[in-house]
Amino acid sequence: MSGYVLVLNASYEFLNLSTVKRAIKLIFKGKAEVLELHPTKEIVSASRKVKAPSIIRMLYQIVRPFGGIPLTRKNIILRDRHQCQYCGKTGDTVDHIIPRSRGGKDSWENCVCACVRCNTRKNNRTPGEAKMALLRPPKKPRHIPWFIVKKDADAVGWDKYLYWNTDLD
Ligand SMILES: [Zn+2]
Repeated sequence: MSGYVLVLNASYEFLNLSTVKRAIKLIFKGKAEVLELHPTKEIVSASRKVKAPSIIRMLYQIVRPFGGIPLTRKNIILRDRHQCQYCGKTGDTVDHIIPRSRGGKDSWENCVCACVRCNTRKNNRTPGEAKMALLRPPKKPRHIPWFIVKKDADAVGWDKYLYWNTDLD
């Protein structure tokens, strides 16, 4: 199932986006509650059909001691707008600019979205060695790219939970 579920902290602040599958897991484990169901999306199991969640809220506060957005594969791809940072086409893999085998770190500055083709082509080389220039230098994002959140927000009524974040744009 495609699309994201909006995950709010216990304080109702934006926490992250999750897959429907993970959101359902959190609910079944008693870690989160459903705030809004998706108007159309349904989950089909062997015995029945139920509406998919659209917004869930954690039942305990997730503390982020260091603040900021977690460095995850999904968030790197979101930051780069699903755009391969080498060729500009759609990408869904993460490339370490300086390969890990060469001492490259897991960091916002060393990871970019790449298409499978470029990722394979670059292999264990630096961009210089592979003669593959980056479209732009990757930076640590200050916030989740809201245009992506908003794209889904229009359809599923996330706005009321996100409005205080829009000045971050
Ligand atoms: Zn590419």
